[in-house]
Amino acid sequence: SPPAERYEYQAEVSRLMDLIVNSLYSNKEVFLRELISNASDALDKLRFLSVTEPGLLKDAVDFDIRIQTDKDNGIISITDTGIGMTRQDLIDCLGTIAQSGTAKFLKALKDSKDAGGDNNLIGQFGVGFYSAFLVADRVVVSTKSPKSDKQYVWEGEANASSYTITEETDPEKLIPRGTRLTLYLKRDDKGFAHPERIQKLVKNYSQFVSFPIYTWQEKGYTKEVEVDEDTDEAKRDDQDEKTEKKKKTKTVVEKYWDWELTNETQPIWLRNPKEVTKEEYNEFYKKTFNEYLEPLASSHFTTEGEVEFRSILYVPAFAPSGKDDIINPKTKNIRLYVKRVFISDDFDGELFPRYLSFVKGVVDSNDLPLNVSREILQESRIVRIMRKRLVRKAFDMILGISMSENREDYEKFWENFGKHLKLGCIEDRENHKRIAPLLRFFSSQSDEELIGLDEYVENMKPDQKDIYYIAADSVTSAKNTPFLERLAEKDLEVMFLVDPIDEVAIQNLKSYKEKNFVDISKEDLDLGDKNEEKEKEMKQEFGQTCDWMKKRLGDKVASVQISNRLSSSPCVLVSGKFGWSANMERLMKAQSM
Ligand code: ADP
Ligand code: MG
Repeated sequence: SPPAERYEYQAEVSRLMDLIVNSLYSNKEVFLRELISNASDALDKLRFLSVTEPGLLKDAVDFDIRIQTDKDNGIISITDTGIGMTRQDLIDCLGTIAQSGTAKFLKALKDSKDAGGDNNLIGQFGVGFYSAFLVADRVVVSTKSPKSDKQYVWEGEANASSYTITEETDPEKLIPRGTRLTLYLKRDDKGFAHPERIQKLVKNYSQFVSFPIYTWQEKGYTKEVEVDEDTDEAKRDDQDEKTEKKKKTKTVVEKYWDWELTNETQPIWLRNPKEVTKEEYNEFYKKTFNEYLEPLASSHFTTEGEVEFRSILYVPAFAPSGKDDIINPKTKNIRLYVKRVFISDDFDGELFPRYLSFVKGVVDSNDLPLNVSREILQESRIVRIMRKRLVRKAFDMILGISMSENREDYEKFWENFGKHLKLGCIEDRENHKRIAPLLRFFSSQSDEELIGLDEYVENMKPDQKDIYYIAADSVTSAKNTPFLERLAEKDLEVMFLVDPIDEVAIQNLKSYKEKNFVDISKEDLDLGDKNEEKEKEMKQEFGQTCDWMKKRLGDKVASVQISNRLSSSPCVLVSGKFGWSANMERLMKAQSM
């Protein structure tokens, strides 16, 4: 047979393997989750590609995953009938890190300062294929892609900086299609090769894999066997009943080994929502999206009529990398299925507008063609209808959080995704009605608590027509602005817009429940308490002072006027009715720098 070729790992892979092999990681069993998820991905890929290339399925084998154990020798093999790998795939996929899950792990590791320790990042993210080395000191991958007529064997060892690839020549080991991983377990980890242990782990970790997983199990059946005539027992019986020669039987257990279906393959979204528990939804979320925190909310629904689809949506508990991160629409947060076949998770605004791209979930449609392409998605009327419904459901879900008895939930939501909703005010006019009640701000009367517009409106004075706001760079500076004085005197509440995006968002909304938003720093603020007589008097008394000040200040101000809006401060700088607010000016300045 052709000689083995040896290759060096990419530096990151070596570093990762080092970490895996040398970490005292306690939750080693996650290796099975990772390897099964790869097998399931490989089956998904094949099923998807075969829609347009039916020739890929010329070897009529079922789509499944089979796990066999040899407890005496400490060996586990995991075989799938998926897409397999060509020689080049082996080099690209198992010798370098270009893939999602593992790259995410390495990034998190970099972020968490204590790299190298046995922190439980592995458990949270998984490290993909390499987690095989958590339990094995030698891993053999024998794989056959339907695109190649040869089967290749990749072999790697823990603590090695290189791996080999050979062609499979042993006819006993040839497979029609797919991948067989063989793990030679470390001495202390041989216990994983017990069939019952594997079965338990599969049940635990692979509840939501939609392909059948079989494990190799010892079984038994009972059988009646005739008892030998010359046993002592038989003889004694014979003496008792001399006349009747009755045949004696005995029950024995016959042992044999066979494949046993170990998971349930009905996707959770096809089940009746009434029969799915919250724990199951949360588990599904964590397993599907590699999350370790429970979601804040979930929503499982079916739509009928014009367009039919099923979906489960989730609101995560945290924004992925800090709340100040730029909103990234390419999140792989929505997994689209067509008739249960996984199609894609690579969307860019087709199913959710970018400001809602933090929503995660699965969508399964019966109305889209299986070979749906990005172009079709963008043009499709069906997709437009789906998007509308999904967005509506997402808002219902968020509204649900805001009405929860547990105030903390919505605080958490707002802290992580408030910015997204404010962006929605700017980008999605059509949904203003849905977004506005979800917004939260501090106000002159709210102390440390955030309030919603509904609370503001409820708190309005009987004759108050507008919703007042002031933009500032912090709550403290908003509280100390002279603009507040008159309003405070009249006990009018003022919203504090302290996030740079707040003011733009509010200006886009224009009004809420037919009440206009009014900036209290603008020149023409009318609190409905004009006293013309008094104004006339004031003008006569101070008109000359104003002229004098304007002369002194020159171009620095547009005008100097007498105003009734202050009660204790002598003067205030206001922006013109049509000009930018001071805050906006600050923003524009910051941006042009
Ligand atoms: P990820 O699954 O996040 O891509 P992994 O480290 O788990 O990262 O796997 C790396 C790559 O190796 C996969 O993306 C896939 O291309 C390939 N691979 C792993 N296992 C299999 C398999 N059973 N069949 C086909 N390809 C596989
Ligand atoms: Mg993987």
